[in-house]
Order: sequence, then structure tokens, then C-alpha cells
Amino acid sequence: MSDVIYLDHAATTPLDKRVFEKMRPYFCECYGNADSPHALGRKAQAAVDAARDCVAELIGAKSNEIYFTSGGTESDNWAIIGGARAKRVEGRTQIVVSTIEHHAVLSAVERLEKEGFEIVWLPVDEGGMVALQSIQDAVSDKTAIVCLMAVNNETGVKQPVEQAASIAKERGALFFTDAVQAAPYMPIDVKAWGVDLLSFSSHKFYGPKGCGVLYIRSGVKMEKLVGGGEQERGMRGGTTNVPFVVGLAEAYRLIRAEMQENNAKLQSLAETFMQELAPLDGIMRNGDKANALPSVLNLRFSGVENTSLLYNMDLQGVAFAAGSACASASVKPSHVLTAMGLNETQAKESVRLSFGKDNTLEEVTRVAALLTDTLRRLRKK
Ligand SMILES: *Cc1c(COP(=O)(O)O)cnc(C)c1O
Repeated sequence: MSDVIYLDHAATTPLDKRVFEKMRPYFCECYGNADSPHALGRKAQAAVDAARDCVAELIGAKSNEIYFTSGGTESDNWAIIGGARAKRVEGRTQIVVSTIEHHAVLSAVERLEKEGFEIVWLPVDEGGMVALQSIQDAVSDKTAIVCLMAVNNETGVKQPVEQAASIAKERGALFFTDAVQAAPYMPIDVKAWGVDLLSFSSHKFYGPKGCGVLYIRSGVKMEKLVGGGEQERGMRGGTTNVPFVVGLAEAYRLIRAEMQENNAKLQSLAETFMQELAPLDGIMRNGDKANALPSVLNLRFSGVENTSLLYNMDLQGVAFAAGSACASASVKPSHVLTAMGLNETQAKESVRLSFGKDNTLEEVTRVAALLTDTLRRLRKK
């Protein structure tokens, strides 16, 4: 598969080989259970402690505020369900959430709705950004939790997290941000952002799949979701996945150390790509460019269905997404794009290309050329 040109980094990234080397000893040699008191167990525990300290320091948290989970989906579910249920004892029965959240968040919110919580949806403008006024209007002394993602996974548009967090705080509500898409490109700082709960996932920044973090500010009351042993300070049962936790921390350390250089590269890849496509008619960019990460281009090619474009490009060895990865198997138009005001046809003409640190200028120029030919062919049909 090495000759595939991979432009779907918002769905997942390859494991960085340096990360793999760091994980390797924890499979067959240092395989102890981190909770065992013997030497092998202590060695595993030391590795988990070091990983926790590393992540905590990089995001401005204390080590005992970092909880390892099975990924972004579990962290999102735990933050919202665990946070909202704990807040309910104060008589707060409302959840304020943006319409453009990831399905992990939407499904948690829908579960809470069945438990009797009232859901207040925050709309977005045509550029894909939630308006602060709508948050001001929505949050009350009935609000248990406010959920607003840091960066949207389909458009790459950054959201006003700090301001939203301060509105939530003023009114005594919890504030949660899904920072899964922000983590590879923006330095997370939980203090500066003012968040109570924050999630991210290892496989979006060249770490292993199936491993994530939930930051829980100390003092925040939470219900646990996964019961079992006393792992994660009694808040999340299950034998600790030592190699993956080690990999997550190393991947996050590397992405933070190399963030500026990666971002500069991504910027130039995206610019080159757009220049190469300039001669084509009927291209629109979804999402306000001024507020978007350089890694994501959500583009609409009028007159061409995204599934057919995807299929034709896949045959030529180019991988990208229609809407989000989870939505692509279904025929439903993207909920994010329709929230931004696109009609069903327009949403189904849209694709997401997401660049990564290992893409080259040659690759993006080649994709632009293949895309130009393919679009001309499909439009003639
Ligand atoms: C990928 C993603 C998730 C889910 O993370 P997993 O680790 O794959 O479960 C959640 N939120 C956003 C914004 C994502 O992009």
C-alpha cells in the first residue's frame, strides 16, 4: 500500500516509527500488569507514570488530572455522560452542545436526552463557526455542561473555546471540549483555555489507535463509566494498556516538539494544492479559511457526487474522505455541512482532504493533476 497517496489524516494517521520503537519493549519484555507489586509490574507502572507526567506537563495539567482511556470516543462519552450525571444532583438538567460535534459527542448527548436531560443546540454560521451570542443566550443556571469542540474534524474550523469556557464558568456549568483534531496542530493549554474536561486521541497524531486521554480538572465531580479494578485512581477500570499509553505520550511529545515545522509544511502543501486547482471551475471551499487549520481542505466540486469522485480517485491510488470517515459509509449528507447551510446536493458534492507531516509537494501536485482530469471526465458524463 506504500504507493497510495494518503490525504485522510483527519480520519487517522500512520504510527510514527519512533513511537513504535518506544512501544516495542512493552509487548514481549516489560509485559507486567502495572498494578502488580512485583518488579515487572513496577517497571510497567513506572512507564505509565512517566507517560502521564509527560502528557500533563505538555498541556499544563497536574498528573492526577490525566486519565488514560481507549480513545477519543470513550473520552467524549465519559466527559459528557459522567459530567452531566454528576451535575444533575445540583438540579441542572440541560446540556448545551454545538450542532457540528463528532458522532461520539452526539451519541452521548442523545443518550442523556433519553435520561431526561434537555438539549439546547448551538447553531453555526456559514463559515462553520459557532456564534458566541448563541452560547450567551443558551447557558443558564439549569445548564449542566457545555460541549464545544476545539476544531471541527470535517472543516478544520477552530471554535471559540476560551470564550465559551468562560461563559460556562460564569454560570456554574461544566465546560468540555473535544480537542481530538486540535491536538496535532495547536498547543493545548488547559489553564489558558479554562476547560474542566478535555479529550484527545493518540491515533490522530501518529500514535497507536485505541488510546486516548480525558483531562478532568481536579475538583470536578464525575461519575465513572467503566467500572472494574481500581485503575486510573478508581475512575476507569481495566488493565492499563502499557505499550499504548507509552506510545501516546511519545507521539504527543514529538508532535508538540515538531508542531511549528509541521504546520509550516502543511500550510505550504495546502497552498500549492489550491494553486494547482485554480484553473478548474466550480470549486468552493467549505469553512472559513481565516479560521481553519492548514491541514484540512473541505472542498465542493459542483456537479460531481463525492462518492463517485472518491471511488475514481481511490482506483488511482489516492485516499481522502467524503464528509467525515464515520459518515462516509452511509449515504446521509454531512451534518456539519448541512448545519453550515449547504443543501443536500451541495453537501454530497463535498470532500475532505487532510494533509499530514509526511506528505510531499510532489504528492499534492500529482493529486491535483489526477483530480483535475477525473473531474473533467466525471462532469462530461
Ligand atoms: C477521531 C475523532 C474522535 C474519535 O476518536 P477515536 O480515538 O477514533 O475514538 C472524536 N472526536 C473527533 C473530533 C475526532 O476527529
